[in-house]
Amino acid sequence: MAHICDALIISCIDFRFQKYMQKWLEKNMAGKKYDFVGFAGASKDLGTIMKQLDISVRLHKIKQVVLIHHEDCGAYGKQSTPKRHAADLLKAQRTISAKYPNLSISLFYLHLDGKFETV
Ligand SMILES: [Zn+2]
Repeated sequence: MAHICDALIISCIDFRFQKYMQKWLEKNMAGKKYDFVGFAGASKDLGTIMKQLDISVRLHKIKQVVLIHHEDCGAYGKQSTPKRHAADLLKAQRTISAKYPNLSISLFYLHLDGKFETV
């Protein structure tokens, strides 16, 4: 049976941020259905993300991708700076857009205090 959903949410595995993401999703994705995956560093390993995205597009016909990186990310270690996260998020956006030009892509940098910053 075909089953589709609206979006794919990609975040880091870091437990400290799950409560903030749940709250954000309840508010910003209300009434929508979504796939939700967590990888250390979110889109840091872009090859892995693209494989996951391919499946989400193929099986669930998603229209939107939400990428959430966060402050103090262990997967980045000392390189976990806002600048580096923004660069990687924008690179992911370019790569995804090139392959799936119709997907809407949202990029966020999540602060330790729970604030979502648009990238
Ligand atoms: Zn992390």
